[in-house]
Amino acid sequence: MADRTPCINPICRRTFKRQHDNEEIVCGKCFRTLPEATRKEHRRCWREYRKWDRRIKRTVDVLKAQRMHEIRDRWGAMISGHWDGQIKPFFLAPEKPVGLDSFLEEMRL
Ligand SMILES: [Zn+2]
Repeated sequence: MADRTPCINPICRRTFKRQHDNEEIVCGKCFRTLPEATRKEHRRCWREYRKWDRRIKRTVDVLKAQRMHEIRDRWGAMISGHWDGQIKPFFLAPEKPVGLDSFLEEMRL
């Protein structure tokens, strides 16, 4: 089914209608299994992203809009960093984040 995108959780069988290539999705049910702090952070980044997006659309000042774009894109980068660093590993390498902390501590990193 090439027009469907599966949930990022390999043991989940839900799929979504594909919106664009290389998209990654977590379904609502799996999202709720994430730690509370991870969910909060995810929602916070998206809220900021959308807030700046709305402001860009409302402003007529080109220079301001440009600066707002930069801020919005920074939140966009935060979202993808958080996705790759927190959300994906939770489903794809669930044993890694747990052991990694103590490993880094041992290495004094
Ligand atoms: Zn799922």
